[in-house]
Amino acid sequence: MPAVLPTYARADLVFERGEGAYLFTTAGERYLDFTAGIAVNVLGHAHPKLTDALCNQAQKLWHTSNLFRVEGQERLAERLCAATFADTVFFTNSGAEALECAIKMARKFHSATGAPERHRLITFEGAFHGRTMATIAAAGQEKLLSGFGPPMPGFDQVPLGDIEAARAAITPETAGFLIEPIQGEGGIRNPGWPFLRALRKLADEHGLLLILDEVQSGVGRTGRFFAHEHAGIVPDILAAAKGLGGGFPVGACLATEHAAQGMTVGTHGSTFGGNPLAMAVGNAVLDIVLEPEFLAHVRDTGLRLRQQLAELSDAHPGMIEEVRGEGLLLGLKCSPPVGDVVAALRAQHMLAVGASENVLRLVPPLNIGEDEVREARGCLDAALTALGTDAPAAAAHHG
Ligand SMILES: *Cc1c(COP(=O)(O)O)cnc(C)c1O
Repeated sequence: MPAVLPTYARADLVFERGEGAYLFTTAGERYLDFTAGIAVNVLGHAHPKLTDALCNQAQKLWHTSNLFRVEGQERLAERLCAATFADTVFFTNSGAEALECAIKMARKFHSATGAPERHRLITFEGAFHGRTMATIAAAGQEKLLSGFGPPMPGFDQVPLGDIEAARAAITPETAGFLIEPIQGEGGIRNPGWPFLRALRKLADEHGLLLILDEVQSGVGRTGRFFAHEHAGIVPDILAAAKGLGGGFPVGACLATEHAAQGMTVGTHGSTFGGNPLAMAVGNAVLDIVLEPEFLAHVRDTGLRLRQQLAELSDAHPGMIEEVRGEGLLLGLKCSPPVGDVVAALRAQHMLAVGASENVLRLVPPLNIGEDEVREARGCLDAALTALGTDAPAAAAHHG
């Protein structure tokens, strides 16, 4: 058995260094990276400002624990609150941990406000919230739950985008809704901004909390700081991670003062969460992402890439069924098996990642320019051409 637990079907590539939107293998081959560590490296690889922030902090202090005040945490939390709906932030090391905090907070809210029976969350089919016991139960997918014993109770699932099903699922035990504004792993599925608005209204009518999982859609990915801003609504609780540390593990649970009222001293914790290294990098990410031009650049680049994808779809009839997504959280619903498309792209030295519903995810660094968009189009064009003329061979090779 391999020394590394074989839970991943890894591509046989080893990278030695990165620069912007490019990765270089140990053999010196260059790849255009539209995976970005699964929507993580929002500023690309080895961004000098992030490298400086990390190196400077590394020379001063790495870790003290949350027994003490951490200045970087206070600063990052204040900035996140100033830029969003939130009044308060809990820092974690990953997306799943941010969700765990969100789930605990929602239960605690009702407990603290006199309705401890309200502990169940309504979640949505196709969701992905992480790999902990609570988050696999929240996602409710057999492929995540199988073999791991009884799923943690407290989640009721309804079809994505079905407001009547969401309404019908409310019981006296319901604490709130948990939803990704745009499903990432689920295949870049957007239930629509009107649906999010309807869910907000439904939550308000029933005294329920709206929890958003913006682990993938947040931190500028869709062209807004958080994707729910497109819908013109605010959540009560929000989980963020992936882009927040630009490649350094940082997660956060953001909440309003109202929703967070049960989370008093001793109710939650994390040894590593919000440590000085993570906070230094998180603050450096925000220095750039919160610049006024940055999100406009993401929206422009997203539109440009989308235009290229629409043209490619026309140029390769029968290969692309749909272009999905917002900003630089884009998906191509493919006709050929998406694994074959990923492999064909890799042969063109471009990296992209699959998602459910046979969708190819394009989640490049958010600071790419026109050159990278043009190059991506060229790689996709060549990959689709190769697949179109040689589909069975490609399938045999990589299936
Ligand atoms: C990646 C992801 C998670 C889990 O994050 P981890 O850091 O892997 O724990 C949760 N929710 C969404 C929407 C994600 O994309």
